[in-house]
Amino acid sequence: MFATLSDRLTSTFKNLRTKGRLSEADIDATVREIRRALLDADVAVVVVREFTGKVRERALSAEVSGALNPAQQVVKIVNEELVAILGGANRPLAFAKTAPTVILLAGLQGAGKTTLAGKLALHLRGQGHTPLLVAADLQRPNAVTQLQIVGERAGVPVFAPHPGAQGSAGTDQVDTGDPVAVAREGLAVARTRQHDVVIVDTAGRLGVDAELMRQAANIRDAIDPDEILFVIDAMIGQDAVATAMAFQEGVGFTGVVLTKLDGDARGGAALSVASVTGRPILFASTGEKLTEFEAFHPDRMASRILD
Ligand code: GDP
Repeated sequence: MFATLSDRLTSTFKNLRTKGRLSEADIDATVREIRRALLDADVAVVVVREFTGKVRERALSAEVSGALNPAQQVVKIVNEELVAILGGANRPLAFAKTAPTVILLAGLQGAGKTTLAGKLALHLRGQGHTPLLVAADLQRPNAVTQLQIVGERAGVPVFAPHPGAQGSAGTDQVDTGDPVAVAREGLAVARTRQHDVVIVDTAGRLGVDAELMRQAANIRDAIDPDEILFVIDAMIGQDAVATAMAFQEGVGFTGVVLTKLDGDARGGAALSVASVTGRPILFASTGEKLTEFEAFHPDRMASRILD
């Protein structure tokens, strides 16, 4: 995902290696190159501005350290600032004091919500939890079936709304076309059957729209989630910030999940979203398989970029 950005930053730092000490002009030239590399990677302008401002300030005031040469010092500062814009430290999923923990997934169509629902369910199951998946995406044809397939692969039951839906063993069916009712009913079933986590998949549109937001907000109000995870395709580039802000305003979210980090697009979304929304990235999705999923660690991501 970050191959180009990584190469650009590495070659910027390489130019510094021969310098015994860095003048202000050297630092400015370096910061300019970092700025260009980030903008070319589709990182949001506001984020780039803040980032480069901090790097410049810190590089100028960096104390001469016996252990690090100037180039290493700049790399260290860039690394620390990258970790900071990515949210600092990993934030684990917040579980409710009283089960079930309710997790609502929101995001644009195609962001990878349904796939993520399965990944998260499998991940939680592996930790000894007993999740229930709830199919409240009634917009897209096949979304319910897709969640059922994913649930089956994850070995996790699915509460599904269509009366005629093909379900695996343990699949519930409720005859309604109302996603709010499905979510509410799913939560009730989870309580009765003592599932300790409920993951609710919601509908997305190709673009942000008012009805989509209203529907997600109505589901939110009906089930009072412990976590609202905004699922975003890391490849959407410059649209990332506007989309994230629209969801933040329309539904509100407690955390972010980045998907398609395995892609080779420029990945600026990954570097912008936590910073502009002030919400941590909890997980990263790195492929189509249910196991291609990991907790998001800002420091590991920064190291990968600066590798
Ligand atoms: P939804 O509309 O938000 O529910 O998105 P889906 O879960 O249906 O995913 C849309 C497409 O993206 C599907 O073809 C998925 O297989 C694919 N997908 C989801 N997550 C990832 C990922 O992390 N990497 C890749 N390469 N593809 C993914």
